[in-house]
Amino acid sequence: MIQINHLQKSFGKLNVLSDVNAHIHPGEIISIIGPSGAGKSTFLRCLNLLEEPTGGSIMIDGEDLLAPGVNVARIRQKMGMVFQSFNLFNHLSVLDNVCIGPVKLLGKNRKEAEQRGMELLKMVGMAEKAHAMPEELSGGQKQRAAIARCLSMEPEIILFDEPTSALDPTMVSEVLSVIRSLARQGMTMAIVTHEMSFARDVSTRVFYMDKGTIYEEGTPEQIFEHPTRELTRIFVNRIRDFHFCFHSRDYDRYALKSEWQQYCNKYFLTRETMQKALKLGVSLFRLIPFDKGAVDMFFRYSEKTRQMSVEVLLPPGMPPVLPPPDSKRMSVINILCDGVITSKEETPDGERVKYCMKLRHHNH
Ligand code: ADP
Ligand code: MG
Repeated sequence: MIQINHLQKSFGKLNVLSDVNAHIHPGEIISIIGPSGAGKSTFLRCLNLLEEPTGGSIMIDGEDLLAPGVNVARIRQKMGMVFQSFNLFNHLSVLDNVCIGPVKLLGKNRKEAEQRGMELLKMVGMAEKAHAMPEELSGGQKQRAAIARCLSMEPEIILFDEPTSALDPTMVSEVLSVIRSLARQGMTMAIVTHEMSFARDVSTRVFYMDKGTIYEEGTPEQIFEHPTRELTRIFVNRIRDFHFCFHSRDYDRYALKSEWQQYCNKYFLTRETMQKALKLGVSLFRLIPFDKGAVDMFFRYSEKTRQMSVEVLLPPGMPPVLPPPDSKRMSVINILCDGVITSKEETPDGERVKYCMKLRHHNH
């Protein structure tokens, strides 16, 4: 059992992990997802002491990893790591890569190590390549050999840092299958990955990391289907925002049109969605009086659900301004969406009224 409390890591002035709290039980499969730069790799590297944390504590089976005098080599042994870039020894055959650790660090004799090594290579489908050199292997084969090498050290947990992101798309699945089979055997694992459907069906829990913390965690179902926090939602639904700020009635129509066009092209929006969403935004804008500051409008398109919604944030302090839902002035809006949801958002400048609308899908 691993218990992580208030883990911090900074590089000079850069705070990369600000406050990470987590626990991992034996047999758990934790997927770690989140935008790049969130601190995922740093978190894994701190766990097996490839980086020295600048604060907090990591306990493994009651032992404090960060206590002075701790046997770092033994701790690393408990935690195997598989890297994006394989990290095989290029001057050693596949079998030697798998045997070197057990012989040098676990004190096994050569024969024992080779026997176990061959078993592990069989398990990852690499027995035929036991005597090949790394340079003769494809990326997927290298990564499977790296997994066998990691297993040869009999780790209690394996940390994977984007194990498939350096691979050709055709080789991703062979590596994921090996990880899946380890999962079935009850191996404890923490896996940083961008393969969302894999994370969804292989893991027991998901950590969503953002801005140096575990921003939200839960079962795959909670995180992928019912995330409760804003940044998680944006990430898992692959929500693409288009933001336009109306500073005055005389906003730059040409700029709006051209930015909108670019956004729609980038995400392959249909012509229909493109026109209707813009019409919805502009119709709303016309119903808002303009005396208290800028109005922000967000067009949010989910690449996952293909739903487009429009959010409008009134200036701080402006009360709700839309006419009643059944009034004539709302008729265009009612045609384009299924009603307007009103809520409030706290901001440093005061409360802002927020309107949210989902664009209606029309079936032809
Ligand atoms: P992720 O794996 O989520 O993409 P990383 O943990 O690799 O994020 O990096 C988080 C941040 O820490 C990035 O801004 C990165 O530039 C910075 N960082 C990582 N390693 C170092 C380092 N050794 N020295 C300085 N900055 C680093
Ligand atoms: Mg990383």
